[in-house]
Amino acid sequence: MGIEQSLMPAPEAWLARARPDDPVFFFCPMRLAQVAERFLSGFPGQVTYAVKANPAPELVGGLLAAGLRAFDVASPAEMRLVREQAPGAALHYHNPVRSEAEIAEGMRQGCVSWSVDRARELDKLRVLPAGAEIAVRLKLPVTGAAYDFGAKFGATPEEAETLLRQVVEMGLTPSITFHPGTQCPTPEPWARYIAAAAEVARRAGVRLHRLNVGGGFPSHRDAAMPDLEAIFATIAEATRAAFGADVPQLVCEPGRGLCAEAMILALRVKAVTPEAVFLNDGIYGGMAEWRDLGPIDRLRVFTEEGTPRAGRPVPRIAFGPTCDSLDRLPDELALPDTLSEGDYLVFEGMGAYSRALVTAFNGYGVRRVVRMTAGC
Ligand SMILES: *Cc1c(COP(=O)(O)O)cnc(C)c1O
Repeated sequence: MGIEQSLMPAPEAWLARARPDDPVFFFCPMRLAQVAERFLSGFPGQVTYAVKANPAPELVGGLLAAGLRAFDVASPAEMRLVREQAPGAALHYHNPVRSEAEIAEGMRQGCVSWSVDRARELDKLRVLPAGAEIAVRLKLPVTGAAYDFGAKFGATPEEAETLLRQVVEMGLTPSITFHPGTQCPTPEPWARYIAAAAEVARRAGVRLHRLNVGGGFPSHRDAAMPDLEAIFATIAEATRAAFGADVPQLVCEPGRGLCAEAMILALRVKAVTPEAVFLNDGIYGGMAEWRDLGPIDRLRVFTEEGTPRAGRPVPRIAFGPTCDSLDRLPDELALPDTLSEGDYLVFEGMGAYSRALVTAFNGYGVRRVVRMTAGC
């Protein structure tokens, strides 16, 4: 996707001038810088960015400009994407299942941390240089997240204990990593995981080099503003309480928490009935994740002249543009009763797991990105 520039003060002003018929992402570098600063100054350790949440080059570039220097990558393509802009960045290869060819590429790209969750995968990492960091991926039963990140990857506390001992026997550097689940609204899952990680390390008799507390930091999806600082404070306290004198260095790898606020998605109304609205994008485009997480209700509606659409909110079924009957949003949208063809729907907080998941199904999908250089 190429990127266009806008000097307009707000997306609605750009929409009124350009009148695009296709959906558009607006990239807001200032918002990205603000949230990056919140993490870099507030998190009590190293901040890395989980590239999968939004691999757009402008996102990686904006985070580098904000001072971030480390990235969680899951594939050779993500490594190359980061290396293009940041040859010296630290790469953490935290996809715990890898082919031999992927391991070779990770070594060529200079990855410095490797996660594992099973003996066979650790065995494949014998080719790493002595002292390389191995982060054993711990899983606990789910608590509180929007969906379970332990369903695919992770070692139970007993398995993690054995893996940690093996890491030390192999002459590699032992760490623990976990992911509490995406969009965790409260700090409790981190406190539980940190206590469990300390217990695993104690039982294994291993001193951890680092503890990576994952992603899962929530983005602002509805009326509730997430309190990142409360999560950072819990992480710091729980680590002191659980590890005492042996505190490992902390690392985090947010995806959603860092990138969600940096993009706005504007859709256009193609047709309206009293019960439904037909939009120019949907679950096969920028809203793929809504089937699992539910809608973002930070929504404003504008006429094509750019004036806010007033009116009584009426719930309507929201269909996407393809001919597939599954192509509807999981919940009805409350839209003004005055809604008309050609109006624009502007959703905030749309930077995470949106652009990365756009398909070209039926010839649709968001292709345009506009960089807001003068505000958002
Ligand atoms: C997806 C992923 C992340 C980012 O998760 P968010 O919930 O977006 O913060 C971090 N680490 C790993 C290993 C992941 O797979």
